[in-house]
Amino acid sequence: MSGGWVGSNRRSELPADWYTRVRPFVLARDEYRCRNRINGALCGRPANQVDHVGDKGDHRPEMLQALCEWCHGRKSSAQGNQSPNRAKSTEARPGEQHPGLI
Ligand SMILES: [Zn+2]
Repeated sequence: MSGGWVGSNRRSELPADWYTRVRPFVLARDEYRCRNRINGALCGRPANQVDHVGDKGDHRPEMLQALCEWCHGRKSSAQGNQSPNRAKSTEARPGEQHPGLI
């Protein structure tokens, strides 16, 4: 069942009519509102992204949802990087002590 190229950096394949049909269809169906749930509450911000709910190769409309840019970026980075601590560690890096010039 698993594709041979799973694990490569190759972008997930999109169908030829992704931008002409599938994507606009999903955005219109979801009324251009973000379908992401944050702590159980619908985000609802204006959506301009279409996200795969399940497998990235599953392009059925019921397996796609509209997302706002923020949620999509958030989700993509979470999927691409299994360790959520990685982004935080650079952020939480303790300030380097300035050696001080004497
Ligand atoms: Zn959102």
